[in-house]
Amino acid sequence: MIIVIDGPAGSGKSSTAREIADRLNIGFLDSGALYRTITFLWLKAGKPEKAGFFENLPEHDLKVEYRDQIFHVQANGEDITKEIRKHEVASNVSEIASHPEARAFVNGFMRRLVDNSTYIADGRDLGTAVFPDADLKFYMDASIKERAKRRFDEMDDPDVTLQDVEKNLKSRDQKDRNRKADPLKQADDAVVIDTTGKTFDEQVAEMISIIDEKLKLN
Ligand code: C5P
Repeated sequence: MIIVIDGPAGSGKSSTAREIADRLNIGFLDSGALYRTITFLWLKAGKPEKAGFFENLPEHDLKVEYRDQIFHVQANGEDITKEIRKHEVASNVSEIASHPEARAFVNGFMRRLVDNSTYIADGRDLGTAVFPDADLKFYMDASIKERAKRRFDEMDDPDVTLQDVEKNLKSRDQKDRNRKADPLKQADDAVVIDTTGKTFDEQVAEMISIIDEKLKLN
């Protein structure tokens, strides 16, 4: 069984999905972390020519594990959980994610992972492209000011200002919405949750009650 949450950067998808996973005792999958991982590997390799880099992606040993509210990522034996959250990765990830080859790799990885288990996953195109038959689809949104403030508050980078974060979110949203390959888009059958002005507990409670009603997991 798979529940998906799509929406723009900073709309609260990931923190909400983690909380729901903990409360319902199901798996959590952060698809953005996988695009960030590829971007980190590309930067680490010295920004090589993309076609060859994408072709060789299956050779990397990638491991993900959700534990203690954190989506841990390991690449080729190195724990890169913190590195993938850095500003340099955030500044390059939407460009990397716009390539169909990168998307095909991430989509295959995700579909294999969730096979036969119950997961909640967050991303941009999960309800439209990756899991069009998901059991339940949410689309979360909030105003740009609120999204930037949330991201800024959870960041641990003294060189980055609130303005930098807002600029980065706007530019990523723009790229994510307008790219040809699987853009950020609300699925026709998604339940829309606007979190502007809502507390975290309120949005989690609202979504859990929808999940309870539709999927009867408990
Ligand atoms: O969710 P997060 O902000 O960490 O995602 C990082 C980037 O990865 C997004 O800005 C987007 O470019 C890309 N992404 C995507 N499709 C997804 C999830 C993330 O293109 N399903």
